[in-house]
Amino acid sequence: MEPEVEGVRDSLLRLTRIPRVTGIERYVVPILRELMSPFSDAFKVDAWGNSEAIINPGGKPVVMLAAHVDQIGIIVREITEDGFVKFEGVGWDAKVLYGMRVKLLTDKGEVKGVVGALPPHIFRAYKELAEKKLEIRDLAIDIGADSKEDAEKAGVKPGVYGVPDYEPEDLLGHHFSSPGLDDAAGVVTMIEALKLAWKSRDKIDAEVHFVATIQEEIGLRGAEMVAYRLKPDIAVAIDVTFAKQPMMPAEFVLRTGKGPAISKGPIYHWEVVETLERAAKEAEIPYQIEPDFRGYGTDTWAIQVARGGVRTGLISIPLRSMHSPVEVVNLKDIAWGGALLSEFIKML
Ligand SMILES: [Zn+2]
Repeated sequence: MEPEVEGVRDSLLRLTRIPRVTGIERYVVPILRELMSPFSDAFKVDAWGNSEAIINPGGKPVVMLAAHVDQIGIIVREITEDGFVKFEGVGWDAKVLYGMRVKLLTDKGEVKGVVGALPPHIFRAYKELAEKKLEIRDLAIDIGADSKEDAEKAGVKPGVYGVPDYEPEDLLGHHFSSPGLDDAAGVVTMIEALKLAWKSRDKIDAEVHFVATIQEEIGLRGAEMVAYRLKPDIAVAIDVTFAKQPMMPAEFVLRTGKGPAISKGPIYHWEVVETLERAAKEAEIPYQIEPDFRGYGTDTWAIQVARGGVRTGLISIPLRSMHSPVEVVNLKDIAWGGALLSEFIKML
């Protein structure tokens, strides 16, 4: 089946342009509401900003799809006397931040900056610098301020969040690059599933919750809240996974553009895995298998053990350059993932 990718692209453009750092997911709720509520019986937001579209309330079994809406970002720690901004972040490699453009989201609006980089000439001249392992605490954002007062006047102060400042870009062959595709790609996969499921809702017995979870990147916190509240019978998380790219160790074999990956391993319930595979085969949707013995690191990990145990699964969109400002996915994988999930729901 050749997928329709224009809708996928539109939704991704809308989501990736809103900063969604862990901790400020509430700012993306209006967009989610616009994208999801026309295709659902209800749209709800909880106290922490987990938002969900619901189809077929009262149906059985109760199904939870979960894709995390937060993206990795940074938070300002302090301003130096000469106006440079020190910061913290979770999920970053300092090498990736080095030289990156960022925007800081202050009460007074966005302040642009660049994470400073030392000239290579200096590394050649000072061997001890060249040998030092780069850490986030070594880095600082240059916002062009001459002093701490300057920075504070612009609204930059401890506790302000920031994100990479990069526009989304189309690449060849339906590839798409942007910061925050982890997990905007999963959220859009879920939205595609919602649209398809809504069209054929007369064929669905289940009550289905399409949940955009918060705070996955700091420990699957939103998924834990929602799984407790919903006590689902079945849950499938949708996230991104490591795709093959130069420098990756040889065991990473998943490719972009070859279909979503269905995870197999201890925390993925055999019935869910079997049904996901059957759904893909019957609808002729290409897919890949991702063997995963450990399982931690996605919302599935939290949901599996909620409320005495949930039958869980995971599908993942293959992604290159994860946790960088230049993450790359293929729009076709997202469209196929949405189709796969809507077929899966119909089978329950
Ligand atoms: Zn993720």
